[in-house]
Amino acid sequence: MTEASEETIGLPVAPDAVETARALGAQAAARRHAELVPVLQRASELYYQHDAPELSDAEYDRLMRELVALEIAFPSLVTPDSPTQRVGAAPTSAFGEVRHGRPMLSLGNVFDEDELRAFDQRVRRSLGVPLAPDPALDLRYVAELKIDGLAVSLRYERGRFVQGATRGDGTTGEDVTANLRTISVLPERLREPATAEVRGEVYMPKAEFARINAEREEAGLPTYANPRNSGAGSLRQQDPRVTAQRRLSSWTYQLIEDGPEGRPTVSSQSEALARLRALGLPVNPDRAEGLDIDGVCRFLEEWRDRRHDLPYETDGVVVKVDRFDQQEHLGMVARAPRWAIAYKFPPEQVETLLEDIVPYVGRTGTLTPVAHMRPAKVAGSTVARATLHNLDEVRRKDLRIGDWIVLQKAGDVIPEVVRSLPERRTGAEREFEMPATCPVCGAAIVRDEGAVRHYCPNPKCPARLTQEFAHFAGRGGMDIEGAGWAVLEQLLERGLVKTRGDFYRLTVDDLMSLDRFARKSAENLTASIERSRHRPLGRVLNALGIPQVGEQTAIDLAGWIASRWPSEGTDPGEWTALVARSLPGVTAEELEEVPGIGAVVAASIAGYFGAPETAAVLLDLVDAGVVAEPPARRVAPGSGAAPSGPLAGKTVVVTGTLLGFGRAAAEEAIRAAGGHAAGSVSRNTSYVVAGESAGSKLQKATELGVTVLDEDGFRRLLAGEEP
Ligand code: NAD
Repeated sequence: MTEASEETIGLPVAPDAVETARALGAQAAARRHAELVPVLQRASELYYQHDAPELSDAEYDRLMRELVALEIAFPSLVTPDSPTQRVGAAPTSAFGEVRHGRPMLSLGNVFDEDELRAFDQRVRRSLGVPLAPDPALDLRYVAELKIDGLAVSLRYERGRFVQGATRGDGTTGEDVTANLRTISVLPERLREPATAEVRGEVYMPKAEFARINAEREEAGLPTYANPRNSGAGSLRQQDPRVTAQRRLSSWTYQLIEDGPEGRPTVSSQSEALARLRALGLPVNPDRAEGLDIDGVCRFLEEWRDRRHDLPYETDGVVVKVDRFDQQEHLGMVARAPRWAIAYKFPPEQVETLLEDIVPYVGRTGTLTPVAHMRPAKVAGSTVARATLHNLDEVRRKDLRIGDWIVLQKAGDVIPEVVRSLPERRTGAEREFEMPATCPVCGAAIVRDEGAVRHYCPNPKCPARLTQEFAHFAGRGGMDIEGAGWAVLEQLLERGLVKTRGDFYRLTVDDLMSLDRFARKSAENLTASIERSRHRPLGRVLNALGIPQVGEQTAIDLAGWIASRWPSEGTDPGEWTALVARSLPGVTAEELEEVPGIGAVVAASIAGYFGAPETAAVLLDLVDAGVVAEPPARRVAPGSGAAPSGPLAGKTVVVTGTLLGFGRAAAEEAIRAAGGHAAGSVSRNTSYVVAGESAGSKLQKATELGVTVLDEDGFRRLLAGEEP
């Protein structure tokens, strides 16, 4: 590879790849180039504009490198619209456009230590810094984790957040100001009246990704491929209320700020990071400064495995020359600076045997094929099962029972079968077919015209019922402590629970007839059932398991019910009856008024309450004495009214395990007291409630000087007393 070509392209590739490209000859190279360009262009469009890639990142990177090698071997193939010369993709028309003052660039990639050391050599040569270790410390690097999210630019004027945009094509991005305002770690106001442009990455925490995908899968919606796409999709929403429901977070890493004489306020990346923190912006503490290239390599090594323990996804390490004067000297190529490089962690994939594909019946009757694999260790844990979503997916990936397969974790969390390895087939492999009848109740399986899902239509199918009831009694629902899977199965099998209301009719004697139940355990369970009789309306609605409705939507719906029937519900018991009486008459159009509820969800809710079976379910709950508590008065954004309650205007973060509250219950209590329950700690956090084994959030609270409460303090706070 010649120095000049590499400079034009800005992406390093292995010299033998360039040799291979050259060996093709000009004509064949041009043909291959013409094949690759549209493939990469389409991949970029799907990735950046639709947040729904069809290629894996590793596959995309591989094809991109092949293109780079072709262009280095035959420089005449480089055109201004080649994917090697472009950043991201043009903004979509769904948003207003924002022109960036300075272009937002991409980064060159390296995939191993040798390539990284070659980058260091190029930097040194260009700066005239000796290749031997230099005690004068002329050249130092900052190593930051590369956050796999969506790049954004935030404009602050006199300390106030005024505009935010995506990277777009690097020159023009999409105006996502309103959506960025919903991200709690990004302050509306800086700690100083500074005017600056701040750049960083918005990401979706792994736990949130898992939560949203689980909800989507249950609701029969397509799942997101990874937190990056789910995060980008959540930020690029037309309705900021939808963004607000996805608990996005952010790290900032670039500051463009001029001081009084028009000179930048900082002169290096490490100073910029310190200044960002001082302004009250989130800066990732997991970084290292003042490194030479050996130090950078140690940093990579350290994070290769540790990254799996982080609550967010990182796909590599960004290495930046620290001093701005050196950065300026180095300059940039078409799409990337020459003073920084991204080292990409190898995708962690393993090969294992697909021993069986087993269809499972879910709460809504959906039949989900699940891969049963020979247990394999991947990204920090042992995996033996992975959902294959539906039959189309099994066919698309060409998976057969008995195949060797490639396994990875999507977003470090969800085990995912990537593809089969047909070259390892022996001929003994079998195609998987969906069963014609439900493996649990024997009802004929249905697949609606044009739909991907197969389902068991029998509402009394024991598999469906057990899961419906588990959802009802589960943590986001009535939260009946001790009503685990094994207990539920027995209660259903023995006919002790036939409806949801039956939980509240169980006696100690009934429970003593169950396996491994003595008087004491039976009394404990009836006591916890009794405690669960009173739950906030949002939780009761969530417990019903309305298709397409998750925890947050249920809370939104409860808020709407409270505002729609304001004079009702003085007696808490009335709310259950109110739902039973009034919701069946509500139309989808009316439900679309509810903030955060779109047309599809509205239709699903209206369909659910309109069904005759639902009336029976609701009347049964009224009869069983389930008490839905009125929701705290919710305030529509921008309505000007202030929320009331002891926590009005306060943001509270709960971390670790509390003895008296599940996580959902603690958050509900915060909301009921008028507060905002947040997922991460920032300067804007009013209190952090730390339970047992609280970890990094507690540490962060201490660092930021946020008041930390124990469980007792939390209870006092909820009661409106001094914590
Ligand atoms: P990139 O993601 O490789 O690197 C540049 C980006 O890194 C910056 O724009 C910035 O947003 C981000 N970044 C994260 N942490 C950072 C930090 N601490 N400091 C500086 N920047 C940081 O480059 P790209 O141009 O955004 O995207 C190219 C990559 O996107 C490909 O390598 C591939 O992984 C993926 N991609 C995939 C497909 C697909 O079909 N799967 C298609 C297009 C792109």
